[in-house]
Amino acid sequence: KLLIEANGVSKQFANGTQALKNVSLTVERGEVLCIIGPSGSGKSTLLRTLNALEEISEGDIQVNGHSVHNRKVDLNRLRTQVGMVFQQFNLFPHMTALENVMLAPLKVLKQPEAEVRARAEQLLAKVGLADKAQSHPAQLSGGQQQRVAIARALAMKPSIMLFDEPTSALDPEMVGEVLEVMKALALEGMTMCVVTHEMGFARAVAHRVLFMDHGEIVYQDAPAAFFDAP
Ligand code: ADP
Ligand code: ADP
Repeated sequence: KLLIEANGVSKQFANGTQALKNVSLTVERGEVLCIIGPSGSGKSTLLRTLNALEEISEGDIQVNGHSVHNRKVDLNRLRTQVGMVFQQFNLFPHMTALENVMLAPLKVLKQPEAEVRARAEQLLAKVGLADKAQSHPAQLSGGQQQRVAIARALAMKPSIMLFDEPTSALDPEMVGEVLEVMKALALEGMTMCVVTHEMGFARAVAHRVLFMDHGEIVYQDAPAAFFDAP
């Protein structure tokens, strides 16, 4: 069964910019997609329409069989199903790493605190930050903050994770540690859509690479075919 099914999606911003033109896309459970293409080609807009952070002008997007651009959609429920990691980590500065990871399951899902705490500790360990649970974001490197942001998204037990240029704001020496965490997630079978300029990652981890240009998916194929084409 398809996890994401987008059909004929177009997006025009209020200023007239046509960011997406008749884009169709399917994502299967367990699939890892990398979306590449020049700046301004619509990659980020496409990703943001998948969890209704951005409205669409035309078309339809289904996540888990539910239309997400629909007045009846339960946005809280959708956002638990679709985790997102941004270029800027967007952690709450006054909260510890652990509190950042615990916040949404406590406030949105209203799960019991002991359970949420235990899971948050596990997730911080999983991203290699067991010893930073009590640190505040300002005490963490960019790479560490981004790993906390990944743990925070995973705390909602999403069925898919969206990554919007997750390493673009990082100093070069921190890119690898974030990509390693993402690679481990992919190997566990997490469904992922990753907008990235990291071609090594796309080649090694993606099942399918999409190339966007001027608001359209102009080419998509397995990474071997994509990168090794003559
Ligand atoms: P990419 O992620 O590939 O760099 P984007 O999806 O960010 O591209 O942008 C696609 C196009 O939409 C670009 O022309 C960009 O300038 C435009 N755009 C993005 N966000 C907005 C916005 N909020 N208002 C108007 N135009 C926008
Ligand atoms: P799950 O996949 O978590 O088992 P289901 O798809 O069986 O959930 O849906 C359970 C209930 O929640 C159904 O009534 C379904 O219509 C509703 N539902 C699931 N996802 C959404 C969503 N994103 N927006 C609105 N309702 C939803």
